[in-house]
Order: sequence, then C-alpha cells, then structure tokens
Amino acid sequence: MAAKLLGAHMPTAGGLGKAVQRGHDIGCTAVQVFTSSPQQWKSKEVTDTMVQDLLAAEEATAIHSLVSHDSYLINLCAPDEELRSKSMGGLSGEIVRCARYGIPFVVSHMGAHVGQGEEVGLARVAESALTILAETPETVTLLMETTAGQGSCLNWRFEQLATILDLCKRPTRLGVCIDTCHIFAAGYDIRTPEAYEATFAEFDRLVGVATIKAIHANDSKHGLGSRKDRHEHIGKGEIGLEAFRCLVNDPRFEQTPILLETPDAETHHGENLAVLKSLCAT
Ligand SMILES: [Zn+2]
Ligand SMILES: [Zn+2]
Repeated sequence: MAAKLLGAHMPTAGGLGKAVQRGHDIGCTAVQVFTSSPQQWKSKEVTDTMVQDLLAAEEATAIHSLVSHDSYLINLCAPDEELRSKSMGGLSGEIVRCARYGIPFVVSHMGAHVGQGEEVGLARVAESALTILAETPETVTLLMETTAGQGSCLNWRFEQLATILDLCKRPTRLGVCIDTCHIFAAGYDIRTPEAYEATFAEFDRLVGVATIKAIHANDSKHGLGSRKDRHEHIGKGEIGLEAFRCLVNDPRFEQTPILLETPDAETHHGENLAVLKSLCAT
C-alpha cells in the first residue's frame, strides 16, 4: 500500500491551527510546523487557547499526524558551554511545548562538531540528548535528522546516527528523520529502484529502518555527494521522480509522515504534494 501520511511543512502565521487548516486545504494528511521562530532563542508561552485552537483544527481536518521542527540555532555539542547549554534548554523547551500541544515528534539537526572532531562531537551530542530526554515529557520522541554533511554538521553518515543511538543505549524516545535531499547530498544514491533499495538496506544494517519515524521529501539542487543542503521541487532536481515513487510506495513507510520542505511553501506545496500523490500506486 502507498503512503497514507503525505504532507508538508506549513507556515504557522495565525497559530498552529491555521497551519493544519492550510495543510488540509492543499491535501495534506500530515503536517510539520515550527512551534516558535526557528531563528530565535526566545519563545512564546503556549496558552490553553493556542492548544485548543490546534485541537479544534485537528478535529475539523482529521489531520492527526503532526511533527515539529526545532530551532536552527541548536548545537548540542557546541564547544562553547554557554551555547551548548542554551541549545539544550532550547530543545528541552521545544519538547515541552510539543507535549503541551500533543505533538508526538520533534525533528532536530542535533549538532555540528565545529573543529572538535567527529568522535568528540558525537559523544557530546549523545550526552546532551540523554539529559534532555531525562528531563522532558515521555509523550514526545526526539528525531535526529540526517544532514547533508555541510560544514562540520554531524549525522550525514548513517554510522554517526548509529553511534549516537548506541551511546544513548537506543531509547525508544530517540529516532531518526530521513531527509531525501540530505542523504543524497551526503552521497547515498536513491535515483533508481536498485540504488534506493541498497541505500535503505545499508541504513537498516547500520541504524535500523524501524528508527525512521518521519521523512522529509525534498529533491536536491546539487548532485550526489555534493554535501550541499539546497532543496528543489519534487522531480525538478538532481534526484528525480523515480526515488519518490519508490519512497511513497515503500510498505515500510505506509504509516510514516512524509513531509515536503520544498521551496515556495505558499505557492508550490500544493503542486509538489500532487506530484507525490500521483506517484502512489493505486
Ligand atoms: Zn529536512
Ligand atoms: Zn535541508
């Protein structure tokens, strides 16, 4: 069966309820949101009215698959202790807000080692993640997003995700969000059914496909192994349609939210979503 939870990252102007409503208007069955501004440390307190507004929109649209994306400022292994502790506070706050809203997943880029080296970076990320999980509500699962490997960002190699999971002793509240643009830019080919299968077999061997709780569906402006993070409209980039056909018809991801983060949300998310749907086998 084809994927049942197809959606997009939706703008949250006017509140999270509005984001869900806008998602519904373009045909989403899953929605990703920011619960606060991704470029700022400060966040507004979540009020009962804000929660009620989201729940009412979920009820009205029958969209119950929600994912949040954390702030871009967060670096759980920042060499600067002040920045690291700010990051931990920021991600904990995000998880607490999600628990309030009833959002079960938070996607995070986790960190960049900034010259400390990969091994130190991974150990510090794992340590931070364990602390954060211990002090936040159990209803929310933290998902480490695969990165394109730009700069010193961690988690572009599947081995790095496996290392963090192992160092944390694989808690159920720590999972993975695959981003198709990022894994491709990191060097994992998915352009043909054979390449797609090989990449996910490799992921399964090293990390475990069962850890994948959300997927970002983005084409890539840059080529295989470019290590550049630039999203493109579905089928218009270097990845091409075939990979997305494999993805939306992969029985392992039938119940996994598959979310667009392609450019021009306001004008093009509907179109990109229609492309994903057209690839679903009936
Ligand atoms: Zn992403
Ligand atoms: Zn990206």
